[in-house]
Amino acid sequence: MASLENGKYAYAFSSGCAAMHACLSLLSSKQHIIASNDLYGGTYRLFEGVFKPYGIEVSYVDTTESTNILKAIKSNTKMVWIETPSNPLLKLTDLEDVAKICKNKKLISVVDNTFASPYLQTPLNFGIDIVVHSSTKYIGGHSDIIGGVVVTNNKEYASRIAFIQNSVGAVPSPFEAWLILRSVKTLSIRMEKHSSNALQIANYLSKSKYVKKLYYPTFSYEKQRKILKKQMKLPGGMVSFELDGDSKTTKKFCSKTKIFTLAESLGGVESLIDHVASMTHAYLGKKRQMEMGLKDNLIRLSVGIENVDDLIYDLEQAFKATFK
Ligand SMILES: *Cc1c(COP(=O)(O)O)cnc(C)c1O
Repeated sequence: MASLENGKYAYAFSSGCAAMHACLSLLSSKQHIIASNDLYGGTYRLFEGVFKPYGIEVSYVDTTESTNILKAIKSNTKMVWIETPSNPLLKLTDLEDVAKICKNKKLISVVDNTFASPYLQTPLNFGIDIVVHSSTKYIGGHSDIIGGVVVTNNKEYASRIAFIQNSVGAVPSPFEAWLILRSVKTLSIRMEKHSSNALQIANYLSKSKYVKKLYYPTFSYEKQRKILKKQMKLPGGMVSFELDGDSKTTKKFCSKTKIFTLAESLGGVESLIDHVASMTHAYLGKKRQMEMGLKDNLIRLSVGIENVDDLIYDLEQAFKATFK
């Protein structure tokens, strides 16, 4: 994992959540984190439900504009936590900008690189301090393991994370470590196929009369496309979109696909569909969902490596069954 991310030190954990927990253990009470406001629901839950009671503060900002990070810095700020592409709106944050700000202000920069995988993006190369992964997703790739990884070039952070790994004990079993090694052998070809399928699906959705809004980096505004070009090899396998309908219609659509399985998680060879508001991001609650722009009609696809014609046909028949 260290060599894939071009880092010196890597530590394996029993889940992505355990890996994130280890990174957050670099902080102490009364310190402050600036985090992307479009974030994996479980990261928000970890911040709010586990670290907040220990006295750690978190501000959520739109990190796609680095000036928002600068504005949010306080005297006790210690860490900047970025997700790019973000979950579920697939917004990109400029890694080089974030690394520069953090170096200047002596903050620890952390990037959750789960959505990109090290094949598509290597944040340490842009000067980021720590990369965290849920290897449950693309690195595992087969929806048969739960795991997490932390990678860094910084010796001091590495030794603290190793200490936490040993002290807390959230480590993977040998069998799961073996499964990850099996998975990594096909990471490059899987990521190529996830991305090319996702791009074709995004193209298809961009022309559909049932789609109100599409979220995919290639279809975003120019500044986002520039970031894409600068730091990602390909735009990845996740596609989100708003259906032209209410919550009920959206749930109906999600139940009509036959190849896309209705399930949380992502990054496996088989395609999944997620009703964001009631599934992956339900913990946020209505108010926070609205603040983050996560509407009832938002759907997130984890595009697998199946034949893309079958996947498009599946979406087509689900649209027809929903809107008949
Ligand atoms: C799933 C996920 C996690 C948490 O990982 P687990 O392995 O499920 O604990 C963290 N970040 C992102 C972006 C994820 O998608």
